[in-house]
Amino acid sequence: MTAGDSAKGPVAETLLLFGATGDLAQRMLLPSLAALHADELVPPSLRIVGTARSKMTDKSFRNFARGALEKYLPADRRPGMADFLNRLSYVDCDVTSPEGFDALAKAVGGPEKLAIFLSTAPSLFQSTIEGLERAGLTGDGARISLEKPLGADLASSRTINDAVAAAFSEDRIFRIDHYLGKETVQNLLALRFANLLFEPLWNANYIEHVQITVAETVGLEGRADFYEGTGAVRDMVQNHMLQLLALVAMEPPTQFEAGAVRDEKVKVLRALRPVEADETVTGQYRGGAVKTEIVPGYDEELGRDSDVETFVAIKAHVDNWRWKGVPFYLRTGKRLHERVTEIVVQFRPVPHSIFGTARGKANRLLIGIQPEENVTLTLMAKVPGLEQEGMVLRPVPLDIALPHAFTGKHRRIAYERLLLDLLNGDQTLFVRRDEVEAQWTWIDAIRALWAREGVTPKGYNAGSWGPSAAIALAERDGVSWNE
Ligand code: NAP
Repeated sequence: MTAGDSAKGPVAETLLLFGATGDLAQRMLLPSLAALHADELVPPSLRIVGTARSKMTDKSFRNFARGALEKYLPADRRPGMADFLNRLSYVDCDVTSPEGFDALAKAVGGPEKLAIFLSTAPSLFQSTIEGLERAGLTGDGARISLEKPLGADLASSRTINDAVAAAFSEDRIFRIDHYLGKETVQNLLALRFANLLFEPLWNANYIEHVQITVAETVGLEGRADFYEGTGAVRDMVQNHMLQLLALVAMEPPTQFEAGAVRDEKVKVLRALRPVEADETVTGQYRGGAVKTEIVPGYDEELGRDSDVETFVAIKAHVDNWRWKGVPFYLRTGKRLHERVTEIVVQFRPVPHSIFGTARGKANRLLIGIQPEENVTLTLMAKVPGLEQEGMVLRPVPLDIALPHAFTGKHRRIAYERLLLDLLNGDQTLFVRRDEVEAQWTWIDAIRALWAREGVTPKGYNAGSWGPSAAIALAERDGVSWNE
């Protein structure tokens, strides 16, 4: 266990939710909390205090929450909704003015068994933490959870982390990367470390390359200001994709525990080799058709010209013994052909084929994260029949369709897992400061390279798989993206 990690703390009895009137609270946080309540996973004594600038009474906040649950939580997961709503209360507080925190402190009672969730813009974190400290709500019994984005580069992420660290020790800081709350992402750990089968093959001797794709079909979705200050590499690669890469590449931790898991992830993030100029491709979507919908280009949506990338592909390398010479191809973009998040682990071909020309394809493990959660291992099999010219082989998917394997189990929202772990004080699925900083260090170097080389995004048609240069990036190595 490294400094900063602790065993699980006591179960929280009060959740103080900043940004309680916001989009994330309505779509994810309140529904997740209600689902945890419905399954009796939170203590009966848990109180949820919502806060934001809007003026609301307890009653109007409960009505607001009811509206969110009716909209975003399936009907079969709403039993006991009235009891859940009774847990809620509301205090308005403008976090930029310290006085507002007195009423909050009164409503919350004190820092004992307190979990705080900041679902507000990171620009408000510092004043929020100062207000909490002034109101006596940052003592040892309190833990705090932070939403992304944690900065726009290493320097600004350090400023945020320093502000939080001034009031909360690392073992009480829970940084969210909601991908870590997804079932299949955790399943990756189960697959790797609860089965004997994969680990002996999980290295450069048997794995040829890895692909990680996070493809979206949506465009700006009204978030122009945010996206203009971010771009694809900071919005997706810096956090989610590097976390996925770390989980694929890490050494086996000694146990499934915060310190052990995060120690192994950070080693991978620090082993990422700085990227060369010909190892990245950036793009920006032009008008086109996504499925059947005609959509405008990024500049048209924005209303002005922009050089922000809406697509990025990167050939990454993890410089250690296990991954020597194994490229990790990452790509993400908006307005792409299909909405899909997946990891492909491509194994090497058999060293010698006894089947002559019918050599077959090398095994491939596909971990689907979105929209379907599944795991598929492609194996070669004989096509049934009495051929006389030699065996005919075909790749056959060995499909572990997770929803089918576990029928009767609810499909959980990622935030259910994360909120439950926050309440229980378990940091395993939260990101530690050294991980965030290693991620930014690698991303900052890429952005500095682009600035140095004057890289501007190449246009690609909405509804395609990105610029053709991204296809060439992989094809140069004889690799095709999984499409
Ligand atoms: P949002 O809809 O803009 O909500 C912001 C919340 O902050 C509102 O409740 C707002 O309350 C409150 N707020 C704003 N100024 C305040 C102030 N001065 N004092 C107190 N409260 C204030 O944002 P969001 O989409 O929910 O996102 C919240 C956080 O989650 C952000 O950090 C975002 O980057 C992150 N995030 C969001 C999503 C998502 O899907 N929405 C996904 C990943 C991460 P009033 O309106 O009452 O002022």
